[in-house]
Amino acid sequence: MTSHVMPTYQRLPITFDRGEGVWLWDENNTRYLDALSGIAVCNLGHAHPAVHKAVCEQSGKLLHTSNIYGIAVQERLADRLIAKSGMDNVFFCNSGAEANEAAIKLARKYGHSLGISCPAIIVMEKSFHGRTLATLSATGNAKVQQGFAPLVEGFIRVAYNDVGAIEQALAQHGNIVAILLEPVQGEGGVNIPDADYLNRVRELCDSHQLLMMLDEIQTGVGRTGKFLAFQHNLILPDVCTMAKALGNGVPIGACLARGKAAGILTAGAHGSTFGGNPLACSAALAVLSTLDEENLIESAAQKGDVICAGFIARLADNKHVVDIRHKGLMIGIELDAPCAELVKLALQRQLLINVTNDTTIRLLPPLIIDGQQITQLVDSLSALIQDYTGQS
Ligand SMILES: *Cc1c(COP(=O)(O)O)cnc(C)c1O
Repeated sequence: MTSHVMPTYQRLPITFDRGEGVWLWDENNTRYLDALSGIAVCNLGHAHPAVHKAVCEQSGKLLHTSNIYGIAVQERLADRLIAKSGMDNVFFCNSGAEANEAAIKLARKYGHSLGISCPAIIVMEKSFHGRTLATLSATGNAKVQQGFAPLVEGFIRVAYNDVGAIEQALAQHGNIVAILLEPVQGEGGVNIPDADYLNRVRELCDSHQLLMMLDEIQTGVGRTGKFLAFQHNLILPDVCTMAKALGNGVPIGACLARGKAAGILTAGAHGSTFGGNPLACSAALAVLSTLDEENLIESAAQKGDVICAGFIARLADNKHVVDIRHKGLMIGIELDAPCAELVKLALQRQLLINVTNDTTIRLLPPLIIDGQQITQLVDSLSALIQDYTGQS
């Protein structure tokens, strides 16, 4: 049958019917181990009872009123996010791209408040910030931009994990007002910068009056072993964007701001019809409570270490494995050649994985994965990699 959905996605030939925890079942009732979590969305696994309950209860009470009125559950979620992040306030929206749009608008308005009429934002090579016009312009991937010129102006691109490149851009341009970057690049290949990189970016932002804007859309909500990845560095950004796992599958995005950045977007400057609606906020509140109750953030760090140690033990001798790296449960296994094919081969072994930047197997398992499931994941994927590279 021909599909009447616009063909914007290259889909795998499988359709899932239901899920529970790390497991998904297809229409033939075959069970799959989900090591991707819908790309870092279902951090609590599928059909988590706390999220289910929150969504059911809220939908029976109130789904939408509009931001024309007060929304109590939105206020409660803002309180919780501020307490967990150290930021000052939050704008709610419905996706990652929208959260970054808010950050980009905030940075431009900040620039104008300083008297800079054509403000620019430093962005990174290999970054990913979304698919709207401004966020694809900020994204460091030609494939994402292909066909959509003219791009949004006002972005200056530098190499990731290279403080010197930022200093050089600052020396060349007098209109830079912010730096936007991911604490770990997800789509770009699970690129983990030097341990002090974010600290040095923070220092540069302080000395040049720039907003440090972190895209934590993939790294946030416990994924890297802290609630937000910048907490590994004991710093605070001026702006931080979240989405993906915040609602565990219920669409919600957030742009958090602090200090001088928290006062920039004033009444009438930005808005969203659905942003911060009661349904999405109640799901997010359930996510935050569950992370604490089940101690999932600390355990994400330990589980990531266990998984990587397992892969290193099994794959250390494989000369086609270039690198195995992770920050918490954001895991990359880099091969020496393009390996996108592995996604389909893994599917045949009832395992859901992803390949990004052509050569890096990316794993984003749910934070609720247990020891037995970790063993199954490591055994099954190691065997596949050995077979695929002819090393078994
Ligand atoms: C997924 C992602 C986005 C885009 O989020 P959408 O909800 O798809 O708009 C932006 N930045 C990063 C780092 C992401 O991983």
